[in-house]
Order: sequence, then C-alpha cells, then structure tokens
Amino acid sequence: MHIEAYAATDVGPVREQNEDAWLVELDGGLFAVADGMGGHAAGEVASSIAVETVREILLGNKDPEETVLADPGGGKQGPDQADILRERLRYAMNQSSVRIRREIERRPSYAGMGTTLVVVMVDEDQVHLAHVGDSRAYLFRNDRLMRLTRDHTVVQQEVDAGRLTPELARIVPHKNILTKSVGFHGPVDPDTSTRAIEPGDIFLLCSDGLTDPLEDGEIEAICCKTHPEDLAQTLVNQALRKGGDDNVTVVVVAIGDEDY
Ligand code: CA
Repeated sequence: MHIEAYAATDVGPVREQNEDAWLVELDGGLFAVADGMGGHAAGEVASSIAVETVREILLGNKDPEETVLADPGGGKQGPDQADILRERLRYAMNQSSVRIRREIERRPSYAGMGTTLVVVMVDEDQVHLAHVGDSRAYLFRNDRLMRLTRDHTVVQQEVDAGRLTPELARIVPHKNILTKSVGFHGPVDPDTSTRAIEPGDIFLLCSDGLTDPLEDGEIEAICCKTHPEDLAQTLVNQALRKGGDDNVTVVVVAIGDEDY
C-alpha cells in the first residue's frame, strides 16, 4: 500500500506551550498523537517521552526487556501477526508510562504529569490501533467519518451509562477529566483493535483541541471537500476559527492505491 501522511499543530491563542506531540514515521507505518498534561512544562515532557518511546520500541528494535511471545508448543497454533502487533503496541505504551514515571522520580517538579496517546500502525493490508485518554482516531471512508476510539473520560462513562446526553457531554465543565492516561495513572491498559484497510482510506489522529470545538459532522464535512494533503492544516485552522483555545494537533494518514 502506498501511504502518505501529513501533520499540523498549533499552540492556540491562549496557552504558552504546545503540550501536544505527534509522530509520523512513514517508512515504518507508525503514527501517533499525544496530549500531555502537568504544570511546569511537564505536559510537553510527558507527551514527547510517550511518542519517542513508541517510536523507539516499535521501530528501533533495541529494547532488551521486550517480551517475546513464547511458542505455545505441542503443535498448537501460535498467536497471529495481528495479536503480536497489538501486544507490542500495548507493551510500548506501558514502557512510555514507565519512562514518564522514571522522569518524575528524577525531577519531582514534574509530579503528576501524564499524557494521552493514540497510536496507529499500518502493516500490509491491516491497521492496528491503540489508545489511552481522549485523543482520537477516526476513519474517513466513502465520504463517511467513523470514530474508531472511545474516549477514556468521566463524561464518556456517563454517556455510556445513559446519565448524560452526548450533547450535554460536550459542554459540561468536567468534560476533559480522564479515566486513563499514560504516566499519571501508572500501568496502562489501552484499548486495541485491528481492521482491514482499503485504498482511499484516510485515518485521522487528533488531540481534543480539534474535537472540543468541532463536532464529528463538521470534521466529516471538511474531510469531504479537502484534499488529504491540506486536511491536517485545514482542520487545525477551522478548530481555531471555531473558538478553540487549546493546543490542537492533527495527523492525517492517507492510504493510496497499490500501484499509486
Ligand atoms: Ca488538549
């Protein structure tokens, strides 16, 4: 598959620092967005440790502690490639958490820092996803936008339980409180999934700086009329135009035809 990827980020009109980090590794088929939190510039530190750890572990092949899945033996069928890749994503995210907490031990002023993390890995005709927190992955296919991740937030839990409508969830003051993160919450239990990709698919990774000001329908409309090459920057601009005041980051991964 031919892949193209584009990223755009903006600090926004209010914040002094951009605590979002992103990763585009075209050759390795690895893409990520992380949205850091914590005072004293710690959010920036947490999000960059997270994406760097993911890159190193999944593409660097130099982690001696990495678990190699054992041969089940006895002629039993072993785990398939998708199982292995999802396990490696999970491992990489946990190592990100370990490294963030190690950094806090070294620099106590970073106490409490953490980050969201959404990772997409393209492998042949499949994509493997893992996420923690409220940075999201979407798939835009046949002019429809599909959300691939479920936010790890208190309000999402309330929506799931039927206590809050999705409309109210967008405006309540505690909408950004996370139930899971990398670093702050300790060991990480990400949601993971695998799906088949098709030529023409566009995957979007983003921080909540995009999805707070823009509803899914608005993002879909922009996807419909924007070339993938301009999509990341257009979405960032539109989020700011709609009054977004947070850091905003978008990574666009466009799957082309095989003989592109
Ligand atoms: Ca944010």
